[in-house]
Amino acid sequence: MGINLKDIDLFIEENKENILRDIARLVAVPSIEGEPEEGAPFGKEPKKALELGLKIAEELGLSARNCENYIGYAELSGEEKEKYIATVTHLDVVPVGEGWTKSPFEMWEKDGYIIGRGVMDDKGPSVVCLYALKYLKEKNIPLRYTVRALLGANEETGMGDVQYFLKNYPAPAFAFSPDSNFPVCNGEKGIYQGMIYSKCAPEKIVSIEGGMAFNVIPDKATAVLKLEGKVPAAAENIEVFEKDGLLTVNAFGKSGHASMPEGTVNAIGVLVNYILDNNLCSEAEAEYLAVLKALHSCPYGTGIGVDADDHKFSPLTIIGGIIGIKDGKFFQSLDSRYPTNTSGAQITATVNEKFGEHCICETVAEMEPFYIEPDSAEIQTCINTYNEITGEKAELYTMGGGTYARDFPNAVSFGPEHPERPMPEWVGAVHCVDEGASVEFLLEALKIYIATLIRLQDVEL
Ligand SMILES: [Zn+2]
Repeated sequence: MGINLKDIDLFIEENKENILRDIARLVAVPSIEGEPEEGAPFGKEPKKALELGLKIAEELGLSARNCENYIGYAELSGEEKEKYIATVTHLDVVPVGEGWTKSPFEMWEKDGYIIGRGVMDDKGPSVVCLYALKYLKEKNIPLRYTVRALLGANEETGMGDVQYFLKNYPAPAFAFSPDSNFPVCNGEKGIYQGMIYSKCAPEKIVSIEGGMAFNVIPDKATAVLKLEGKVPAAAENIEVFEKDGLLTVNAFGKSGHASMPEGTVNAIGVLVNYILDNNLCSEAEAEYLAVLKALHSCPYGTGIGVDADDHKFSPLTIIGGIIGIKDGKFFQSLDSRYPTNTSGAQITATVNEKFGEHCICETVAEMEPFYIEPDSAEIQTCINTYNEITGEKAELYTMGGGTYARDFPNAVSFGPEHPERPMPEWVGAVHCVDEGASVEFLLEALKIYIATLIRLQDVEL
């Protein structure tokens, strides 16, 4: 089907102000997951955001359906009623944290950027998808397939929205999710979470703490130890002080996401090495810490022998996010992003085989890798349209994160972030303080999505 890019540009220009206004309306709802209530499975605010998203859809002339407040969609009917194409975005957001320049729920604009919680993840992209449908409707684009813009309410904390939808409603023949980076991601590594418990009880280590989440590399970790002998010298990234026969050791590192450990320094690893190098713990404690030393020696798993590479994905990563003492044992969490030639069960088994004398490794959660072959016509339509409109020669990519795409039978994530295009330093990334989005790039994404949805009508699904 022919595409009139000039006409799309005109439409975007005409609708720009309304698009920004509608993003601001959604940002104003603090849709962080709350206590489930009757008719509000993810709490009051995600429900409110979903209702507002569907109201905006109706204002744009689209028909809208609320799927029991788990998720909803705007729809344009095509000739083939059964088979449909979907965009999948979400209206829930992560908590805001401290340090925002202005209120995170009152979107503001500066130098071509909009700032506010959710402008990029994923309220901005949600509005963009609704306006893509508005274009198809206004211009009477003949639709072979029905087109739906799915709006989820629980992406950030469990993806219960899409799981509910796929259990109770037919799945789309093809879906793309604007909730990641451009261009197109056709594979996500497996995600494994585990725990390594010590067999020994604490003796000389009174406390050891570090990290807050499985999937974040901590930049600070602390231990308090019974000191026998002299206070050891400080070291790189270490500060020590003694009081009443107790030695406090603070270790510092460089934080990052578990799926991208390159360039990070895990503070737990720094702490463990310092305790071992200075003989600050008992023999049994040292045997357990030696396992953690092996873990933290390399974020690609070579230290503990779980490394893997299938040449479809980048190599396995594994990091330890949280350390502590519970019920008289030490514990260390594990977060691994693994390719297709290993599994969570195998990671657990390998650690137990190699280090079982000193620790017990257990699987906490696992999601298998997801990969779809890149040569289908629908995926080629996405990447080719992206390249045509941006003038780039970008290629498909795979990643270690987890998005909606893995839950659907045939789906990819498709933009709209551009990590390769630098932003001013006052513009925050997704999930961060002062989360921001470039208006120009968001509108370019709208153009890409409109053109892609039109072209997908010609694809045999
Ligand atoms: Zn998101």
